[in-house]
Amino acid sequence: MNDIELAKTKECDECGSTYFASTSQMIKLCPECAYRLYGYPNCVHEFMDGRCRLCHWDGSVSEYIRGLQGELE
Ligand SMILES: [Zn+2]
Ligand SMILES: [Zn+2]
Repeated sequence: MNDIELAKTKECDECGSTYFASTSQMIKLCPECAYRLYGYPNCVHEFMDGRCRLCHWDGSVSEYIRGLQGELE
């Protein structure tokens, strides 16, 4: 990963995954968590080598969001 990509990569406060800052509308949340918690548009996620090549999310899900999903089922 070069310096430019590093500068654009942030760590999600919720799930701990890194993500591309430009893909999320929330300052400290990846697109997946912003969607789960606040209903923002999610990334369509295209996984390659364990990470989404679009938003860089690694598929991590926090205990809290796991709990939210459980309530929906
Ligand atoms: Zn996240
Ligand atoms: Zn994605």
